[in-house]
Amino acid sequence: MAPAMTDLRLFNSLTRQLETFQPVHPGEARVYSCGPTVYNYPHIGNMRAYVFADVLGRTLSFKGYTLTHVINITDVGHLTDDADAGEDKMEKMAAAKAQSIWDIARHYTEAYWADVKALNIRQPAKWTIATDYIDQMIQFATDIADRHCYALDSGLYFDVSTVADYGRLARAVTEEGEARIDEVEGKRNAADFAIWRKTPPGETRQMEWDSPWGRGAPGWHLECSVMSGEVLGFPFDIHTGGIDHREIHHPNEIAQNQAHCCTNGLDVAANSGANIWMHNNFLVERSGKMSKSAGEFLRLQLLADKGYHPLAYRLMCLQAHYRSELEFSWEGLGAALVRLRKMTLAYNRLDQTDAGHGANDIVGHPILQRFDAAMSDDLSTPRALIAFEEALAGPVPQSLALVKAMDAVLGLGLCDLNRRDLRLRPAGTRLDDQTVDSLVAERNAARKDRDFATSDRLRDELAALGVEVMDGDPLGWDWKLG
Ligand code: AMP
Ligand code: ZN
Repeated sequence: MAPAMTDLRLFNSLTRQLETFQPVHPGEARVYSCGPTVYNYPHIGNMRAYVFADVLGRTLSFKGYTLTHVINITDVGHLTDDADAGEDKMEKMAAAKAQSIWDIARHYTEAYWADVKALNIRQPAKWTIATDYIDQMIQFATDIADRHCYALDSGLYFDVSTVADYGRLARAVTEEGEARIDEVEGKRNAADFAIWRKTPPGETRQMEWDSPWGRGAPGWHLECSVMSGEVLGFPFDIHTGGIDHREIHHPNEIAQNQAHCCTNGLDVAANSGANIWMHNNFLVERSGKMSKSAGEFLRLQLLADKGYHPLAYRLMCLQAHYRSELEFSWEGLGAALVRLRKMTLAYNRLDQTDAGHGANDIVGHPILQRFDAAMSDDLSTPRALIAFEEALAGPVPQSLALVKAMDAVLGLGLCDLNRRDLRLRPAGTRLDDQTVDSLVAERNAARKDRDFATSDRLRDELAALGVEVMDGDPLGWDWKLG
């Protein structure tokens, strides 16, 4: 793609500052994103985290870096409380469903991958599955155990006082944070966490392995340290996750990485494992529909069932900056769908009129420069969308090439969309699109000829099919389901 025009600046949660991206390996960008725990369907809030990571990856590609992106799948070790308490989410769901953990993991991993695909999230270079890395986890823990860990009856614990500046990423260990930490008898510091959890005597787990600290399972934080370091090598460029991870999961990963890397003492900046830590803010929904424990929660499939194309949700995410909270509402999603539909219609118009130019012709184009400036400013997608729509509004010279270049970053995939996909159509609606489209076309022709009797008759025929025509709709819908 176009050569880098503006320096890429990203907000580093570790320093709480915008920093210019400087790759560890020239020309390359190595990114690790904390992936899902596959004990249930992801909700759309979870998917915001992957849309964000995807936009980051696409931007790095746009800026000319060769991207290696890794996302993990957590199929063991994540407890019901991030602060190290409660039951393993996977074991709990398997018991509740009376299924094997492997079946649970496979089912929900596939469901997650389906959402990834539906949202145009690019495939990472590698999906790391936690249970494929157990040997490496035991090795990592063995390497740091003498200097940084201690054993209790329940497992091997990491002593956070053995590294410099524990919790720098979280900044303040809030009272609430402290209160959430479960007291395990014998822990030296409240924030110490298990890196290996022994199976309690008399119990068996579906997933357990032998280790120097007894039969059991790895801690969730250990998994991400190991998989990121194994595949990308410490230090790598960027580590991402949702903002909740800034408080416990990532500070714990960083502490382990400090212990493991410790080339320059235990200093955080030099040994956190990644140069930049980035966090997306939450999607929030006031009535609690995002909670996986609530009956009907907000999954991508629910959006589709109600007739909203998944990419309307992607656009809704892009309309907000990744570091601001985004409130979900059906009205907001509807507005994003309308905007996406307008973009698609504009794209189709351009596609029919623009002869098309090569990528080389657009280097230095002012619209592309504005787009680049927005994306380079900590991924300012709301501003980038305005440049995108400017090109779509065309025709300006090279509109189509510009739009294609920008869409490769935004990932809306306009060239694969058509207006039919973007019609609100709840699941189970039976409608013969071709009949509707030809009746609508016939009616438009009659109106043009001022043959109102025919036009009214056709409107009634459409109404009988459940279709309401929308003459002169300011948003550009030509009909909707009545
Ligand atoms: P989990 O499967 O619970 O580990 O979460 C997967 C990802 O989703 C993590 O990066 C979380 O930080 C992120 N996440 C969880 N809830 C939300 C939310 N409401 N909005 C945005 N990201 C979220
Ligand atoms: Zn993680």
